[in-house]
Amino acid sequence: MSQSEKIVIFDTTLRDGEQSPGASMTIEEKLRVAQQLERLNVDVMEAGFPIASEGDFEAVKKIAQTVKNSQVAGLSRANFKDIDRAWDALKHAGERGRIHTFIATSDVHMKYKLQMSEQQVVDAAVAAVKHAVNYTPNVEFSCEDAARTRPEFLATVVQAAIEAGATTINIPDTVGYTIPSEFTELINYLKANVSGIEKAILSVHCHNDLGLAVANSLAAIQAGVRQIECTVNGIGERAGNCSLEEVVMTLATRPDVMPYHTDVVTEQIMPASKLLTTVTGMMVQPNKAIVGANAFAHEAGIHQHGVLQEKTTYEIMTPESVGLTENKLVLGKHSGRHAFIDRLEALGYDLNKESIEKAFKRFKALADRKKNVYDEDLDAIVADEIIRAPETYKLLQMNVTSGSFAAPTATVEMEINGKKKKAAMIGDGPVDACFKVIKKLTKSKAHLLNFSVGAITGGTDAQGECSVRLAFDGVEVLGQGAHPDIIVASAKAYINAINRVEQIAARRKDDIQI
Ligand code: MN
Repeated sequence: MSQSEKIVIFDTTLRDGEQSPGASMTIEEKLRVAQQLERLNVDVMEAGFPIASEGDFEAVKKIAQTVKNSQVAGLSRANFKDIDRAWDALKHAGERGRIHTFIATSDVHMKYKLQMSEQQVVDAAVAAVKHAVNYTPNVEFSCEDAARTRPEFLATVVQAAIEAGATTINIPDTVGYTIPSEFTELINYLKANVSGIEKAILSVHCHNDLGLAVANSLAAIQAGVRQIECTVNGIGERAGNCSLEEVVMTLATRPDVMPYHTDVVTEQIMPASKLLTTVTGMMVQPNKAIVGANAFAHEAGIHQHGVLQEKTTYEIMTPESVGLTENKLVLGKHSGRHAFIDRLEALGYDLNKESIEKAFKRFKALADRKKNVYDEDLDAIVADEIIRAPETYKLLQMNVTSGSFAAPTATVEMEINGKKKKAAMIGDGPVDACFKVIKKLTKSKAHLLNFSVGAITGGTDAQGECSVRLAFDGVEVLGQGAHPDIIVASAKAYINAINRVEQIAARRKDDIQI
């Protein structure tokens, strides 16, 4: 490990990731994810795009105030207004604040998007970097669409940005177009043709449109890049960004051929992945590398036999190394507070006293209805009770009658802005009846896109977990709810979605296009 070089991990889950459809978060949710990113020990977290909206500004500012160890970056286009706004939010992080400014450099972007000449682009880049350097020496400059930029021009812009004072130079494959050998060549070209390139840390930001984001990032490291921009679960625009867990675990697993290391606490990978899924509702495919449900499952008999004899027959890394705890039976009716708190800690939750009390109450209620309480049940409780705590609209009581004869009827009592309200309605089925009442009571104008039901664990006493996807005002959000009664879980998911859609629509109302 001693002679291995460090790779800076720049996480952009809260900026590029959050920008993608269905991944919108409230300010509180962004803050919660930021705290987990800090436990993951990322070097830099990009917290948002402060000028995009009042809400984005607030989120970056709060994260800058809260996070203690990681650097906090804010994105800005290459103009003074964006940069001033970014620093206004980032200054709360003091020396750990990083201004990230960018301008497009490919012919197609300069001609159709910017309508600027090459000289104008260079001038704008230099002016932006110089302006940012007045605030902090920690300035990153990106050439948007670098992978499709003519290498000669790319070298000109990069050299000018370094001379202006940028300390990190990012080469994004904005549209996920390059392949590893070509990207290697581009990095080598810059190293050979930019004088003073050694003064800056080289970075890449790869998208996954062709499924090559991780491969391209690794090729870039081998070519001399020392910062990787990535996201948890690989979320991000379109097909997503380079996946943090895949790059980090490749370096951790193959030091023999990749003599580099990161400072990421790999045991925090699963908690980070789970938290992000809970917060956004964006599920991870079961066969996703590192964090998918099947990533460490050995189903085939011959594999199981091998693993039982000797783990390394089919296991190249241990489940524990990525923070995967065994799904063993954990708690029951007679489990005490101490065992409960221990288990929450083992699952990676860092909750305050009040939150623990809330979760414990819910656990006791669940243990009364369900014999065995598994880790997945605890995840659902924490998600439902703490992470997805309802704000404006709250479910108090509900009752549903259904069957093959009586018209499905739902009676729902809710607390809305502190006032109790109750109504009953008939529907095509129990869920339909229930949703109709909730829609009537909340007066929500959001459009229901999708509704799905699943079980958290096996067995007929399993808690039901429901998701509801809503669209309103150009924003798409997912709500979730868990309960042993599937209809109650559905109602909770719907109400959670309504709460989130309002908060997120309010935050993103004045978003600008980039
Ligand atoms: Mn991007």
